Amino acid sequence: MMNTRYEASLEYARDCDSSDTLFAFRDRFHIPQHHDTDSKYFCGNSLGLQPKSVAYLMEQELADWAKYGVEGHFMARNPWFSYHHLFSERLGKIVGALKDEVVAMNTLTVNLHLLMLSFYRPTKTRYKIIMEAGAFPSDQYAIATQAAMHGFNPDEAIIEVAPRQGKHLIAHEDILEAINAAGESLALVILGGVNYYTGQLFNMEGITAAAHAVGAYAGFDLAHAVGNVPLHLHDWQVDFACWCSYKYLNSGPGAVGGVFVHEVHSYDPTVFRAAGWWGNDEKTRFKMEKHFVPQAGAGGWQMSNAPVFNMVALNASLDVFDKAGMAALREKSLNLTGYMEFLLQQLEGLPFEIITPADPAQRGCQLSLLFFKDGKKYFDALTEAGVIADWREPNVIRIAPVPLYNSYEDCYRFYAAMLKLSQQ
Ligand SMILES: *Cc1c(COP(=O)(O)O)cnc(C)c1O
Repeated sequence: MMNTRYEASLEYARDCDSSDTLFAFRDRFHIPQHHDTDSKYFCGNSLGLQPKSVAYLMEQELADWAKYGVEGHFMARNPWFSYHHLFSERLGKIVGALKDEVVAMNTLTVNLHLLMLSFYRPTKTRYKIIMEAGAFPSDQYAIATQAAMHGFNPDEAIIEVAPRQGKHLIAHEDILEAINAAGESLALVILGGVNYYTGQLFNMEGITAAAHAVGAYAGFDLAHAVGNVPLHLHDWQVDFACWCSYKYLNSGPGAVGGVFVHEVHSYDPTVFRAAGWWGNDEKTRFKMEKHFVPQAGAGGWQMSNAPVFNMVALNASLDVFDKAGMAALREKSLNLTGYMEFLLQQLEGLPFEIITPADPAQRGCQLSLLFFKDGKKYFDALTEAGVIADWREPNVIRIAPVPLYNSYEDCYRFYAAMLKLSQQ
């Protein structure tokens, strides 16, 4: 067992922190306070922490607006006209895409609808959608209403792949089997890259290949994957993806989301896009002429001009990601989450099991604890003790040790708080 390398002691946790080359990044974030000390924040999968540089960068935009008014579109230090271009390269690195395959725009559910307008174009015979059972509700609603919009009964058009009887996770073979069984009736496979509830990381490359083999598209909701796990969307031949930026990307509540459209589609002007002026070719955008000319790349899916104030935090956060690097973050993440798992295993006798995959290759940083009883009682007591976790009805506590700002000591403190509660 690799777990034998860990120790359940404060001293050991602090040793790990002192040899952690990413430890200093913690200081770039505001850590919420609990009785004047840093809380143990394990909710980065729900709302990431605020980079300290956001305030300064926000001041800069406010100052440029005050100074230039409308001329800020071209005169601001980061001209608003091209503000979204600030992100392409750094986002591309995070999701494994060419810079023109990604764009920051809108918010997640909106983007899911927009991308389905392009990639769910059902016919009488090819109209089925495969998704995971128990997907995030917003995804369920979006996908069902898209099917209904095309005149299909969502219950008939949507095939949900569920865990087998008595299991919590979805077997990869079962997804492939569902794809093959649907065959020529299948239009689209759309899954969360990492399931929000169980933390299961899907094999996106394998799923995409299977979808393509039957002539269907494959798209992913990366809400819980982006900034958390390594992604190679371009090489995996994924058709499209969308994500939000307020979880692992630390860009604040309601922050601008992002999309990926593979170059085989995004450079093809015949692929349908719901058009707006910001997606028009930039050279002719301000000629204000009739007839939409889509710009090449994912930018062609933009509709409105960039919501600058809602993008400032993303700019701040992507700088931090760029300095840390996804490869180093993933390396720490594997070890940090491994440590948390080890500590939880020492709490034998408490009424929970970890339902997240035990295989590190099939998960990101999140661990989901399914309680057989007293889950809410534990959760409330943890909150009381300054441990911020995430409660999901009916009986799951999700915790996400985030490699950018969580420490090994945080993990130890979580364990110590649980241990104390169990002894009361
Ligand atoms: C967080 C999350 C959402 C939230 O959608 P918004 O449009 O950003 O409010 C949707 N889907 C999944 C899978 C999520 O994890």
